[in-house]
Amino acid sequence: MGGDLLLLSVYDIVKYFPVARSFIERLFGEKRYVRAVDGISFEVEKAEIFSLVGESGSGKTTTGKLILRLIEPTSGRIVFDGVDITHIRGEKLREMRKHMQVIYQDPYASLNPRMRVGDAIKDPLEIHGIAKGEEAKEMVLDMLEKVGLTPAEDFYRAYPRSLSGGQRQRVAIARAMITKPKLVVADEPVSMIDVSLRASILELMLKFRDEIGLSYLFITHDLAVAKYISDRIAIMYLGKIVEIGGKKEIFSNPLHPYTKALMSAIPVPVPGRKRERIKLPGEIPSPIDVPPGCRFHPRCPSRMDVCREKEPALLEVSKGHLVACHLFT
Ligand code: SF4
Repeated sequence: MGGDLLLLSVYDIVKYFPVARSFIERLFGEKRYVRAVDGISFEVEKAEIFSLVGESGSGKTTTGKLILRLIEPTSGRIVFDGVDITHIRGEKLREMRKHMQVIYQDPYASLNPRMRVGDAIKDPLEIHGIAKGEEAKEMVLDMLEKVGLTPAEDFYRAYPRSLSGGQRQRVAIARAMITKPKLVVADEPVSMIDVSLRASILELMLKFRDEIGLSYLFITHDLAVAKYISDRIAIMYLGKIVEIGGKKEIFSNPLHPYTKALMSAIPVPVPGRKRERIKLPGEIPSPIDVPPGCRFHPRCPSRMDVCREKEPALLEVSKGHLVACHLFT
């Protein structure tokens, strides 16, 4: 992959958060860290939908924040549209943000309740000096139509509290799309939305990908949602990517025991047919006490002696399909 097609490259990115300690612990103890993201690399092409999938605590939301430059990485490098953005600040960061937007899980929390919908969507246009006054209003009305909030004039004047969850998420999408970004980080954008409305929100996101040619970094715990929307998928576990590949490959030929367990939990859409569920013992461990060797080994049904000692590298097993597991080395 590469050259002109590439939009985002993440190289061995790490984010450790120091653990708050008491005075005595500071005197005698070692410094401890939450290893939220522990050295991951991936690329996103232009107009591609790349999903990070994992349980809560896998590091996917922290990865999104690192890419948006909302938090500083401990180490590693992020290249966006040919520019190393790992440590940019001030005007350069502001300029970059015009091309990178975010859609959060909770549309209500991400909208200012005292701001009318029209003003909330107009805000990024004015912040980034793209348009103001009547021109900006026209752009917002046009965008409201595009996201299906009609009559647009009525929604322009509405406050978020008067809207349903689905309508609010449409406002959040409109706000993210109004600057015609190159990348949108969508962090669980449908998980708080009524199941019956999810497909329509995902369809709307797909429509913008086709119209503007933007890419999504799509963060979800839900493999069924990832299957619906993604081109490629990375499975995360405890701060690491354990498997990465095209959607078809991941769903037809999952290799990592963790991916297989996640897959086995997806309901089969054929009445009367059941998939054999792989139940993993225990919970995802604390990212403060990451198990040695393969970090999945305490829960892995296929673990071997080597798994307790040696961390498996993420290796390509077929074109574009990579897995971090000693079963494949
Ligand atoms: Fe399981 Fe070992 Fe593979 Fe880890 S490396 S997933 S413990 S088989």
